[in-house]
Amino acid sequence: MLRRTKLMSIETETEYGGTGASSFSSILAIEELAKVDASVSLLCDIQNTLINKLIRKFGTEEQKATYLTKLAKDTIGSFCLSEAVAGSDAFALKTKAEKKGDYYIISGSKMWISNADYAGVFLVMANANLNMGYKGITCFIIDRDTEGLQIGKKENKLGLRASSTNSLMFDNVKVPETNILGQLGDGYRYAIGMLNEGRIGIAAQMLGLAQGCFDHTIPYLKERTQFGERIFSFQGIQHQVAHVATQLEAARLLTYNAARLSQTGKPFIKEASMAKYFASEIAGLTTSKCIEWMGGVGYTKDFPMEKYFRDAKIGTIYEGTSNIQLNTIAKLLGKEY
Ligand SMILES: Cc1cc2nc3c(=O)[nH]c(=O)nc-3n(C[C@H](O)[C@H](O)[C@H](O)COP(=O)(O)OP(=O)(O)OC[C@H]3O[C@@H](n4cnc5c(N)ncnc54)[C@H](O)[C@@H]3O)c2cc1C
Repeated sequence: MLRRTKLMSIETETEYGGTGASSFSSILAIEELAKVDASVSLLCDIQNTLINKLIRKFGTEEQKATYLTKLAKDTIGSFCLSEAVAGSDAFALKTKAEKKGDYYIISGSKMWISNADYAGVFLVMANANLNMGYKGITCFIIDRDTEGLQIGKKENKLGLRASSTNSLMFDNVKVPETNILGQLGDGYRYAIGMLNEGRIGIAAQMLGLAQGCFDHTIPYLKERTQFGERIFSFQGIQHQVAHVATQLEAARLLTYNAARLSQTGKPFIKEASMAKYFASEIAGLTTSKCIEWMGGVGYTKDFPMEKYFRDAKIGTIYEGTSNIQLNTIAKLLGKEY
């Protein structure tokens, strides 16, 4: 469905099979999908805000023709940065790439890689010059069937159960030099740049998820009666609903504002971090409150609120934890005064 509707190639130029739409369109699509399922929304998010965008921005003509076309047609991409030793401190990564003639030999491992179970293409950050520290980090395009690339264990997670999250092992994986994306040693810049923008996608995912949960809950409150009255008619409930609705609207405005700034080439990093941080908090608040307002049935698997609640937690963790967003916001604020 995502492929037929071109939701996996929203911003990709039409010559490569995409729709050539704006980055704001990706944000709206991610939000809408998350109203129903956060895992499907994540699939669309990673493909559009990280994978396609990296190749569109930094790929050679040949790489674009090969990979953007595949990604628009029938292939899923995975973004591979995190490792067991490199989470928030992502550039402490240890996966290395050693030059041998026209090839690089990649060895090491990655962790937490979304969609790895079914991805056909992996954008892998590996260090091609350990002496240079993070300035050796380089982005390699690696096809799934490359010898020595092994997909590891699938994580058994609290939420996002429909999204695969796996480790990856690189056992002397031979990658042609032509599969370097962009410039040797610029991988850290690309990763930071993409994650800064990607955060707006996660904000949209959290916003959509929270709105979806809210939209499922309110009709129940208007139907269920206790003490001879609708649950929704109690002022104690109405004030809480109004509070959450206001927070949701604020999260939406932060997210759309960050998307607008990024799309028009204005500074957006602080706003993107604010949007992700706030939308994640609000997704936690909304889904928790919805369960409470529903009473016992909200706590069961007969209704979707408990799933939304479990899915919401990831917003405070991936693409930079909430603490990392606060660090970014504080750092940029510090420069303004
Ligand atoms: C479901 C899922 C999907 C993911 N998908 C991908 C993917 O597709 N590709 C990918 O590359 N990665 C992916 N990740 C990895 C994700 O980005 C990391 O989990 C995240 O960056 C946090 O790293 P960590 O888990 O090592 O936590 P840690 O970095 O160990 O953090 C632990 C705690 O310490 C806090 N902390 C760390 N440093 C600081 C600091 N300087 N100041 C204050 N507090 C700090 C954190 O906020 C956190 O609360 C995924 C993770 C999950 C769970």
